[in-house]
Amino acid sequence: MSVSSYDVIVIGGGHAGAEAASAAARMGARTALVTQKLETIGAMSCNPAIGGLGKGHLVREVDALDGIMGRCADLGGIQFRMLNRKKGPAVWGPRTQADRKLYRQAVQNALRDTPNLDLIEGNVISFIRNDSEIKGIGLSDGRELSARSVVLTSGTFLRGLIHIGDRKIPAGRIGEPPSTGLSEDLSAFGLKLGRLKTGTPARLDGKTIDWESLDRQEADSDPIPFSFMTDRIVNPQIACGITRTTDATHRLIRDNIHRSAMYSGQIEGVGPRYCPSIEDKITRFGDRDGHQIFLEPEGLDDDTVYPNGISTSLPEEVQDAFIHSIPGLENVRILQCGYAIEYDHVDPRELEPTLQVRKVPGLFLAGQINGTTGYEEAAAQGCVAGLNAALVAGGGEGFVFSRTDSYIGVMIDDLTSRGILEPYRMFTSRAEYRLTLRADNADMRLTPRGIDLGCVSRERRERFEGYRAERESLLSRLDKLVATPKEAQLQGVIVNQDGRRRSARELLSYPDIGWADICRIWPELSEVSSKISEAVSIDALYSAYIDRQAHDIAGMRSEEERLIPRDFDFHALSGLSNELKQKLTAAQPWSIAQAARIDGMTPAAIALLVGYIKKNE
Ligand code: FAD
Repeated sequence: MSVSSYDVIVIGGGHAGAEAASAAARMGARTALVTQKLETIGAMSCNPAIGGLGKGHLVREVDALDGIMGRCADLGGIQFRMLNRKKGPAVWGPRTQADRKLYRQAVQNALRDTPNLDLIEGNVISFIRNDSEIKGIGLSDGRELSARSVVLTSGTFLRGLIHIGDRKIPAGRIGEPPSTGLSEDLSAFGLKLGRLKTGTPARLDGKTIDWESLDRQEADSDPIPFSFMTDRIVNPQIACGITRTTDATHRLIRDNIHRSAMYSGQIEGVGPRYCPSIEDKITRFGDRDGHQIFLEPEGLDDDTVYPNGISTSLPEEVQDAFIHSIPGLENVRILQCGYAIEYDHVDPRELEPTLQVRKVPGLFLAGQINGTTGYEEAAAQGCVAGLNAALVAGGGEGFVFSRTDSYIGVMIDDLTSRGILEPYRMFTSRAEYRLTLRADNADMRLTPRGIDLGCVSRERRERFEGYRAERESLLSRLDKLVATPKEAQLQGVIVNQDGRRRSARELLSYPDIGWADICRIWPELSEVSSKISEAVSIDALYSAYIDRQAHDIAGMRSEEERLIPRDFDFHALSGLSNELKQKLTAAQPWSIAQAARIDGMTPAAIALLVGYIKKNE
C-alpha cells in the first residue's frame, strides 16, 4: 500500500499498538503502524508471560473481538497454566509463559498478514494539527504522514529514563532510545501529564543455575488455548524453577537500600503496587521466610532466565551480590542487570470512554501511556482505540464498552472516570458482575458485538455461529432430558428424594454435580465436545446468581445509556452543592453511570442531574 495519507495511524508497536493497528485494519480502515524499530514489534519489555488473574479475561475478550494477542500467545506459549483452579470458574486465570522470540514473531506475522495495514519504521516527534483536530504526524527524518485519526501507544518511552543505582540513562527500555517531542505537544494541547515508574529484574544464564537443587513448577497436562480459533497447543511445555530469597539476601538489600534509585529519592514517579521491587517487598513486608522467586526460561532455544519476583533498581554490584545469595543461583552468570524506568503518562480522565482525547478530536491514547501496567491491559485498550479510531475516521460515532459486558469496559470506565494514582492493573475483584463476565464466555459476550462492529473475520464468524448453534441445541437437549431422584441415584447422583423430576440442566446447577455425573445418567452425552460441555456446565452452575445479577445489570445499562451532553454546564444546575458542581466539571462524566461513581455523589444529586437532562432533552 505505502502511501502517505491514511485513515488511521498508530504510533508504537508494543502490545497496545499492535492490537490497535490490527483492529483498525480489520475494520477496513487504511492503517499505518509507525514504530521506532520494526524488529521490536510485539517485544515483551518485562516478564515473558501472557494472562494471569483478571489479565487472562482481557486476553480472552480481545480474542473474542478477533484481536491477535490470544492467537499469538497460543503460538508462543511454553507453559500453560489455569490459575486459581481451586476457586470458582468465574475467577480462573488463564496464563502462559511465552517464548519471547516465538511470541514476537507471531505478532509480526499476524500484522504482516493483515490487509489494509502498512508497517513503517520511524520515530514520531510531533503531531500535525489543524485548528482543534488532529491531521497527522511528523517523523524525525522529516517525513509527514496524514490521517483522520491517530492512536498514540508510546508505552514506557515518553521521556523514558532508566535508573540503575545512581546511574541514569535516557531510554524507552534497555537499549532503545526514549521518545521526545510528543510530551511537549501533549502538554501544549492542555493535557495533564504525570510521571510513573516500573522496574524489571536482572536476566540470568540458565546454563549456570543449579536446577537440580530447586523445586519445579510444571505446566498443566491439558493446556487450554487462549484463542477460540486455536484447536490445540503444539509447543512443548516446560517447567519453571522455584527458589526464595534468604536472610543474607535481605541483609545485603537492607544495607544498600539508600543506593536503590527508588529509595534514594531520585525517582519522582509512582510504581506498581502489585509488581513491587524486591526493595519494596523487604521494606514493606519484612523478611518472612523469604520471598518466592520463579525462574522462568525465556524460550525453548534460549538459555536466558527471567527471575520473577526480584525487580530492582539497586546498583549493579549490589544486584550481583544479592542474586548470588539465593539458593540455586550461587554460581549464576548475570546477562543483564535489573533496572527501573520512569516515563510520562497522560491522566486518563482526559479521555472519553472511546479512548479519544476529549480536547483533541481524532487523537486516541492506549496502553501504558494511560497509566496502566501490563501487556494485557495495553492490548485491550489498543483494541478499543483501534476500533474507535477507525469508526471516527469513517465519520461515525465511537463505541463504548460497558462495565456490564466486559472487563474491557470495567478497565476503561475505571480509568476514564476515576483516573489513577499508581499504575493500574486488572483484577477480577474490579468487576462487579464477575459471575457473568467470565473468561470462558468471552466469545458469547463479545463476538456478536465484534461482528456488528465489523472487526471479526468471516472465518471466526462462521466458526462462532456453528459453536453458538451447537450450544443452543445442547441446551434444549439438556432441558428435555429429565430424571427422577431414584433414576439419578441409581447412577450415583444424589439429589433430594422429593420425587420431583429434574432436567439435566437443573442437575448441573448443583455445585456437587458435574458433566461426568450426568453422562452416567445419559451416556449419549459423552459425545459432546469438552469445550461446549464445560461452557454449559459453568453457565448452569451460576444460573441462579446470573439471573439475580441480570436485574442489576439492566439498571446499570440504563444509567450508562443516559448520556450527558458534551460541554454540559454543571454550574447551571441549581440545588447542587458547589463542591459537586466542581467535581462534575472536572470529571466531565460521559453518562449518568459515570457521574454516579464520582466520589461524594449522592442519589439526590443524581436525581437532580437526571431530571435536568430530561427536561432539556
Ligand atoms: P510498549 O510495550 O512500551 O511499546 C511502546 C512502543 O511504542 C514501542 O514499540 C516503541 O518503540 C514505540 N514508540 C514509543 N514512542 C514512539 C515514537 N515517538 N515513535 C515511534 N514509535 C514509538 N508490566 C507489568 O505488568 N508488570 C511489570 O512488572 C512490568 N515491568 C516493566 C518493567 C520495565 C522495565 C518495562 C520497560 C515495562 C514493564 N512492564 C510491566 C510494562 C509492560 O512492558 C507494559 O505494560 C507494556 O509493554 C505496555 O504496552 P504498550 O504497548 O503500552 O507499550
